Amino acid sequence: MILCPSVSESDPHWPERGRLEWEVRAFVDRSDGRVIDCSRDPEAAWRELLEVWERRGDLILFLDQLALPNERHLGELEGCPHDWCACPPSPSSLDWFRGVVKVSWRLQHRHADLVQRIGELGPFARHWAWLPAALGHALRERHVSGPHLHHPLP
Ligand SMILES: [Zn+2]
Repeated sequence: MILCPSVSESDPHWPERGRLEWEVRAFVDRSDGRVIDCSRDPEAAWRELLEVWERRGDLILFLDQLALPNERHLGELEGCPHDWCACPPSPSSLDWFRGVVKVSWRLQHRHADLVQRIGELGPFARHWAWLPAALGHALRERHVSGPHLHHPLP
């Protein structure tokens, strides 16, 4: 399942994080994913993730609202045996959490309370713009190495 935390107008506190572009919305709709509107509620994506995580049935792909992957990126992530992967938005890969991030269902089983743990880190961690980074932080706290990096987005 693709989750795309987004806002309809750019946040004055985080102007560089942009707003949802129509191409990205169209891609998420085509892929049966969910755009999560966080315009009025910055923690809406965290709560949605909590729900999806509790079901633990699906591969989760986080898509940044400024990222636009193609079928090749998704195929690579879905087919990869690693549990935590990313297609970074640039070749530097330091900003991996702003591209596409994959979390396998195995990892969700193994770390069943992980999203609750993110919630305990505070409002910053629950904020839509930093949720994939907070997920990475919580995984590293548990000595999960990663993310396994794939080709950067075009
Ligand atoms: Zn991988």
